[in-house]
Amino acid sequence: MKKIPPFKNEPYQDFSKKAAADKLRAAIQKVRASFGREYPLLIGGKEVKSEQKLLSLNPSNKGEVVGVFQKASVEQANQAIEVASKAFQTWQYEPVEKRAERMFKVARIMRRRRNELVAWCILEAGKTWPEADADVAEAIDFADWYAREALRIGSWQPTYPFPGEKPEQKYIPLGVVVVIPPWNFPSAILSGMTFAALVTGNTVVLKPSSETPGIGWQIAEILMEAGFPNGVFNFVPGSGATAGNAMVEHPRTRMIAFTGSMEVGLDITRRAAVAQPGQIWIKRVIAEMGGKNALVVDDSADLDAAAEAAKVSAFGYQGQKCSAGSRIVLHKKIYDRFVEKLVPRVKRIRVGPADDPASWMGPVISQSAFDSIVGYISVGKNEGTLAAGGEADDSRGFFIQPTVFADVDPHARIAQEEIFGPVTAVIPAKNYEHAIQIANCTKFGLTGAVFSGSRKHIEYAKERFFCGNLYLNRKCTGAMVGAHPFGGFNMSGTDSKAGGRDYLLLFTQAKAVTEKPRKK
Ligand code: NAD
Repeated sequence: MKKIPPFKNEPYQDFSKKAAADKLRAAIQKVRASFGREYPLLIGGKEVKSEQKLLSLNPSNKGEVVGVFQKASVEQANQAIEVASKAFQTWQYEPVEKRAERMFKVARIMRRRRNELVAWCILEAGKTWPEADADVAEAIDFADWYAREALRIGSWQPTYPFPGEKPEQKYIPLGVVVVIPPWNFPSAILSGMTFAALVTGNTVVLKPSSETPGIGWQIAEILMEAGFPNGVFNFVPGSGATAGNAMVEHPRTRMIAFTGSMEVGLDITRRAAVAQPGQIWIKRVIAEMGGKNALVVDDSADLDAAAEAAKVSAFGYQGQKCSAGSRIVLHKKIYDRFVEKLVPRVKRIRVGPADDPASWMGPVISQSAFDSIVGYISVGKNEGTLAAGGEADDSRGFFIQPTVFADVDPHARIAQEEIFGPVTAVIPAKNYEHAIQIANCTKFGLTGAVFSGSRKHIEYAKERFFCGNLYLNRKCTGAMVGAHPFGGFNMSGTDSKAGGRDYLLLFTQAKAVTEKPRKK
């Protein structure tokens, strides 16, 4: 294997440059020209159809069918697990160097197809240009990072020495991993969980989200081109409640890598805990779930920087990030001044179709998301003062204005439940310690941010603010692979720390071997 350079995060594209913008515009046109095409399931390297179909829509323009996908039956879901289980019999012995080489190739192909992938994120997930570009850059980072990590942990590791023996330990793969990603990072999260499983020697059955199967298919094509053998990777869209449950419950499933809502994560955990007839292991589940993240602003904070960060954290990708700043907790001394800085910023946000580079916010993902968020806006009108936004229009796409509720009680529904849309609750606190208490008072614990000029207060937050990813004097979204291992506490999940040094270990089991040399 050639010498591998140190990991570097994939740079973002600068669309203010005409050449970059022109290239993306051409890619958007190319993807749009493919709208309506039908895509197969991929099981054991074979392209397969199913009776029921799944339509993927453009959330900026719900009249546009991005693609027609198969809705796998329970039988097809079971078949995919069995095929993956058979493929594991050989794939598990593939040397780590070869697995890593394929993963580096995945990164290279993704770079080559970058704008096409970005265009898919724009048209199928409703991401604005820079958000879509960041999603794809993160997926490339996962390929590059996990390939290096697999090499780091892939060989025999020394243990504590023992006289007269040679003890060692190796991380070996688990078996069939069912990967169930959400739609909100349709490229990055889907890729991250899939790549981690494959590069550690597992086989994968991927059930993409029904909102964004098209991006999943692009990744499937890339894995095929990179040379993953038939059956090692299987692409099986379908309903969560039927095909998804079948995959989770199958006795040959060894692990489930899930990212999504708390409700579904808990349901999967419960189902996976039941040993099925013929099952000979305890299934492993990693479940990364929702958030109700707080951005705390202290009386010593730089209020302009904090207001800008609050806007970006709350409304980037329409507030549909698990890390979104859906609560803004303000020290009472700066409450009015901060709200005066935040509200005009929010009112200036331009909402429009995601493929229009002038839009700072695009649509929310679907009709059901739209209805649920509009429902929360009605709740919010009784729980706080509407300071910005509140309007919504689903006549063409699923557009909701960025909405700020002020004077919200920390225990109000809009301050406790994950809304997963462009709605944030501004909450007053009596003092700094009280602000941290409020930040900690939900069942979640994913991300958080503190803006403060006081070293003592920063140190206090490092110790007392209970969340998986704490950001100090910066926004609470935008975790970078390698630098910010990502995962939450409490009902935000199992804290698997995607993109960190501990992540791949979750896809392995450690085998300890010791040998006593024969006496000559
Ligand atoms: P969701 O829970 O509705 O769906 C997630 C995935 O689970 C989808 O692929 C869906 O088809 C599948 N699914 C649904 N029911 C299933 C079942 N019974 N069995 C098997 N699979 C099933 O979540 P979503 O709407 O796609 O995503 C949004 C949620 O994801 C939010 O709560 C967000 O906070 C969370 N999220 C968390 C993280 C994190 O790292 N913690 C990252 C991104 C998103």
